[in-house]
Amino acid sequence: MSHQVCLLSGDGIGPEITTVVQEVVKAAGVDIQWVPCQAGLSAFEKYGDPLPQETLDNIRQTKVALKGPLATASGKGFRSVNVALRKELQLYANYRPARTLKGVPAPFDDVDLIVVRENTEGLYSGLEHTVIPGVVESLRVITEVGSRRIAKFAFETARSLGRKKVTCIHKANILKLSDGLFLDTCNDVAKDYPDIQYDDCIVDAAAMKMVMNPHQFDVLVMENLFGDILSDLASGLVGGLGVTPSGNLGTDAAVFEAVHGTAPDIAGKGLANPTALLLSSTMMLKHMGETAAANQIESALFSVLEEGKTLTGDMKGSATTSQFCDAIIAKL
Ligand code: NAD
Repeated sequence: MSHQVCLLSGDGIGPEITTVVQEVVKAAGVDIQWVPCQAGLSAFEKYGDPLPQETLDNIRQTKVALKGPLATASGKGFRSVNVALRKELQLYANYRPARTLKGVPAPFDDVDLIVVRENTEGLYSGLEHTVIPGVVESLRVITEVGSRRIAKFAFETARSLGRKKVTCIHKANILKLSDGLFLDTCNDVAKDYPDIQYDDCIVDAAAMKMVMNPHQFDVLVMENLFGDILSDLASGLVGGLGVTPSGNLGTDAAVFEAVHGTAPDIAGKGLANPTALLLSSTMMLKHMGETAAANQIESALFSVLEEGKTLTGDMKGSATTSQFCDAIIAKL
C-alpha cells in the first residue's frame, strides 16, 4: 500500500536526520510518497511566513507528517511554529515514551514510562501582554474539555498498550482553580477505567521521584508546561534527547517528531544522531498500520545500538550520521 506523508525537514540537523529516516523506511520496503512542506526559518526567509497555509493544508490532507526540529528564537522574532502547528491542527496530545535502550549510556536500567502532555492549552496558549512597562502577564488556560480529552487519551493509551497505572501530575495545592480543574477532571475520567490503577502526584515531588526511582511510574498525564519539562527529564533518564521520540496527535492529523531541537552546534557536520527521529518514524508507521515494518526497523536499530560498534558521538561513539544509517540498513 502506498502512503502520502508530509515531510517538514526542519532547520539545523533536521535535513540530515530526515534523510536517514527516508532511506531506512525505503529500505524496509514501505512505499511512502513524501510531500515536502516548508516551515520554520527557511519558510520565513522565503515566504515571510514561518508556517505557510499550504503546509497546513497539506498536513490536513495527508493527515500524517514527519517533522524535523524547527528553530525558535527566545523572547523575540516569530512565534514558535511548533506551538502554532499544534494549535492550528488541534494536535492536543503529545505522546512521549521514554524507554531504556540497550547500548545507550543512561543512569538507570529498564526505565519504561510514557509522558502524555496536553499540547494546546496551559501557559502555551499564546496569551501574553504587557500590563504596564516592567509588568507582563502570561495567561495559563485550563479547560474542562481540554483536560477531559487528554485524560481520556492517557487512559486509552494505557489500556491499548496493556499498561497498569496512570498518574495525574499537577500543582492543585497552589494553583487551586486551574490545576484543581485539571485534577478533578482526571479523577472523574479515571472512574471509567476501573481496570487501570490511578493516582496523582504534585509536580515538584514527581520530578524528585522520577530522578530517585523512575520505575514507580508508568503513564503520566499532565498539562502543557509540566509536560514539556518532565518529558525532557524523562529523556534524561534513558540517555538524553538524541534517543527520545514523540507524537503529536489530534482527531484529524498526527505529526511525529524528535523531542530534541535543531542542535545548531553540530548542524551540517554529519554528527547528528537520528535515533529519536527514527523512533518517531516507527511510531508513525504503527499509526499508519505499517506495524511489521516499524518492528523491523526498531529491531535493526536496537541491534546496532546494542552492538555499540557504530554509534554517533553523543552516544560515546565515533560514527557519522550516514555510517550509523548504513549500519541500520545492513541489518534490515
Ligand atoms: P537542542 O536539542 O537543539 O540541543 C541541545 C544539545 O543536544 C546540543 O548540544 C545538541 O548538539 C544535542 N543534540 C540534540 N539533538 C541531537 C541529536 N539528534 N544528535 C546529537 N546531539 C543532539 O536544544 P537547544 O540548543 O536548546 O535548541 C536549539 C533550537 O532548537 C532552538 O531554536 C529551539 O527553539 C529549537 N527546538 C526545537 C524543537 C522542535 O522543533 N520540536 C524542540 C526543542 C528545541
